[in-house]
Amino acid sequence: MKSSNVLVIGGGIAGLTAAYELAKLDINVELVEKTPFLGGHAARFTCKATECCEKCGACMVEEKIQKVSQNKNIKIHTNATLNTISRNDRFYFNIHINGQNKETDVSVSKENDISISADAVIMATGFTPYYPAKKPYGYKVFDNVITNLELEEMLRNNNIAVKPSDKQAPDKIAFIQCVGSRDSKLNHLWCSKICCASALRMARLIKRRQPETSITIFYIDIQGFGNDFENFYEKAKKDIKLIRAIPADIYKVENERLKLEYFDHLLMQPIEEVYDMVVLSVAITPKNESKELADSLGIETYDTGFIKSCNKDDTATSNGVFVAGTAGGPLSISESAAQGAKTAWDVKKYLNKNQLEF
Ligand code: SF4
Repeated sequence: MKSSNVLVIGGGIAGLTAAYELAKLDINVELVEKTPFLGGHAARFTCKATECCEKCGACMVEEKIQKVSQNKNIKIHTNATLNTISRNDRFYFNIHINGQNKETDVSVSKENDISISADAVIMATGFTPYYPAKKPYGYKVFDNVITNLELEEMLRNNNIAVKPSDKQAPDKIAFIQCVGSRDSKLNHLWCSKICCASALRMARLIKRRQPETSITIFYIDIQGFGNDFENFYEKAKKDIKLIRAIPADIYKVENERLKLEYFDHLLMQPIEEVYDMVVLSVAITPKNESKELADSLGIETYDTGFIKSCNKDDTATSNGVFVAGTAGGPLSISESAAQGAKTAWDVKKYLNKNQLEF
C-alpha cells in the first residue's frame, strides 16, 4: 500500500503549524515556501510584552520554525515555486528551487526541479500587505512615513522607534489606522482584524521604552482583541491619545517633520498638527497568485479574492484541498496557528476516510 504525503504550500505560521501537527501524526509532509525564509510576515514581528506578555503571538513563530526544522517527517523546500500541477488519483507537482537557501539552518532541497506527489494539499499561502503609495500620505516620498510592518521590524531589530530620516528618536508619532481596509474606493470592504491590536500594542511598547514620546492613534473604530481587551484598552488610553478621525493628507514641513490635516468631530473644525513620524496600519489583502493556485486546484475564491475554505466537518465533501491561515482572510498569529492545527486534523480525517495509509 502506498504511503501518504501531504503538500503544504506556504511556510508562514499557519503552514508551519499544519505541517508540524501532521508530522506529529506520523504523516509525511512536504513544505514548500516561495521565499528563502520560514515564518512569513510574522517572523519579522516584534515581541510586544510590556509589564507582562501581551499575547501578540510573535514568539510562537520562532518556536514553530525550530520544531518544523527538526522534524524528520517534514521535508522543507524554501525558495521554491510551483511550476505545474496535475491530478489523477493523487496530486502531482513540479517544483522549481530558485537557488540554495543560505539564510536558515533548515535542510533544503538542492535540486533545481523536483517532483512531488501528494494525497492532500494545504494552501497556506498567506497575504499581501497593502502597498499604500497611492494614498495621500507620502509613503516612499517622505522618509518618516512607514507602515506598521516596517515599525514591527524596526522595533524587533533596534528595540526602539527611530526616524528613518536621521535615526533619532521621534518626539511625536501618529498612527493612521485602516489604510487600505474598509475602503469602498478600493473595494476593500473588510476589516483587517490585526492592525488595531498591532498599533495599540506597539504604541504601549514604545511608551514603555521611550516614555517621552507622545503617541496619537487616528482611527475609525477600534477592533477588540483577546479576552482581556477592555482592561488592555483602558490602560492604553492613559498613555496614548486616540482621535476618531482619519487624516486626509500629509505634508512635509521643516526638518522632515509631517503635518497632518484632519477634521475633529468633537470640536467640529479642521485641525493641523505636526508629527515626527507617521505609521500607516496597512490592510491584509489577498495574494494574486493564491487565486491562480486556487483555480488550478479547483477551489473557489470570494469576491474579495480570499480563498474559500473547504475544511468541512464532513470530509467526504472535500476534494483533498484545504485552506489555512490568512489565504482565507485576515487572522491574527494565534488564530492562524489554531486554524493550521485544525486543518491538520481535517486532513487526517480526509486521509482516514479515503483509507490512505500514513
Ligand atoms: Fe481598521 Fe482596526 Fe480593522 Fe485594522 S483592525 S482594519 S485598523 S478597524
